[in-house]
Amino acid sequence: MKLCRLGSAGNEKPAIWQDGRWLDVSAFGEDYDESFFETDGMVRLQNWLQSHLSECPEISSPSRIGPCVKRPSKIICIGLNYADHARETGAKIPSSPVIFLKAPSALCGVSDPLIIPEGSVKTDWEVELAVVIGRKASHIPESAAMQYVAGYAMMNDYSERYFQLEDTGQWTKGKSFDSFAPLGPWLVTADEIADPHQLHLWLRVNDEMQQNSHTREMIFKIPFLIHYLSKLMTLFPGDIISTGTPAGVGMGKHPQKFLKPGDIIAYGIEGLGEARQQAVAWRT
Ligand code: ZN
Repeated sequence: MKLCRLGSAGNEKPAIWQDGRWLDVSAFGEDYDESFFETDGMVRLQNWLQSHLSECPEISSPSRIGPCVKRPSKIICIGLNYADHARETGAKIPSSPVIFLKAPSALCGVSDPLIIPEGSVKTDWEVELAVVIGRKASHIPESAAMQYVAGYAMMNDYSERYFQLEDTGQWTKGKSFDSFAPLGPWLVTADEIADPHQLHLWLRVNDEMQQNSHTREMIFKIPFLIHYLSKLMTLFPGDIISTGTPAGVGMGKHPQKFLKPGDIIAYGIEGLGEARQQAVAWRT
């Protein structure tokens, strides 16, 4: 299944993408949130669709594609998880996962505008494979970790490099601005992705290829990340783990290249859909 949420910000309706159509599943009566995942919502929705699919209204052209998961308890990001990206930023290959948190308020849809923060001169892109957690997870062995995955989605871990790296403190500052976590267009359920470490991912800015890589290049793979993170904190259903970005970010270019209002950022991951966003200037 491909789960999505359609409608204006804060008023999204749960929907599915099936056979080239957007279908409103509001009649199922639940949004895609922690309690949905915690109570086997994906299985219940699939069962419900067997007898109600024909009654689900088609949304022929959605006004907006929202984030595919309703605001989760946390968004955990993995830093420097592709060797070529670590090299381009001048960082060492990490011996254990680098992690940071991104504010859940940064979540948005993959066709929403990217808001360049007030005063920003170093807003950068990072296309990433995001894992959506399906069950509460604490101290999970690596061998069982994949049972805790609800599915996958595409995320762009937008990053303001001045606030992330040059201002005092931790990375979270440069990672949490509103609109810095577009997630979607769908949550693709785990059964539809045979191997999440075999997916092509790419990103273009104004039609020029910037990132063009493959999830097999990840240093720490998904089962290990879930195992490792679940020993540090309890993962809740609906939580997002964004697994890191490959080489080709703006700060790694010579000369460096950052986003400005009007730029078009297009990106995709094999099997998970595509996104197209426009950068806009911050306004009060
Ligand atoms: Zn990242």
